[in-house]
Amino acid sequence: MNLILMGPQGSGKGTQGELLAEKFKLPTVSAGALYRDNIRRKTKLGKLAEKFTTKGVLGPNYLTNNMMKAELSKSKYNHGVILDGFPRSLNQARFLSGLRKIDLAILIDINQKETVKRLGGRRICSTCGQTLNLSFVKAASICKKCGGKLIRRVDDYPKAIKQRLAVYRKETKPVVDYYRKQGKLIKINGQKPVKIVFARILNEFKKRGIK
Ligand code: ZN
Repeated sequence: MNLILMGPQGSGKGTQGELLAEKFKLPTVSAGALYRDNIRRKTKLGKLAEKFTTKGVLGPNYLTNNMMKAELSKSKYNHGVILDGFPRSLNQARFLSGLRKIDLAILIDINQKETVKRLGGRRICSTCGQTLNLSFVKAASICKKCGGKLIRRVDDYPKAIKQRLAVYRKETKPVVDYYRKQGKLIKINGQKPVKIVFARILNEFKKRGIK
């Protein structure tokens, strides 16, 4: 079974990916982790990728596509895979269709207000880099791990969050439409608690005969 996980930052997509991986015993590949791995191993593609990631962006389609192709050729993915953060463009989705038959694309959606609320609560320790969310830990100003000062990243202010969300939606809309047209899209409201979101995903699977 080959699954695709989509959703903006703060949607809880990563958590749902972990739950799905555990339930179906599937390995996960995330585009971000793949970049980091190739850079660390200094592969040919990794050296190219580094030029982009130092600017804070992922590279062009051909780079992501070829890294994904090399990764998916490994035997550990013979029984299937959960793809997180890939494909992110129509070009990548078409490329992927030449590598794998995709069973379902799961879009975990969250509205702008909720994204601002969730990401706006993120704090990072200025000393050790530990992150935490004020939605879960009330009124913390000092890092529990090292006593360092907690700060809010420029990226986590409402204006920046809204901008990032708009970019994400624009970028992924063609991909969402691509899978919808094929009848493979599952859209789930990500604003519910983790357990409920997961139960709803499994319910959609059931409707399609996947257990
Ligand atoms: Zn700290």
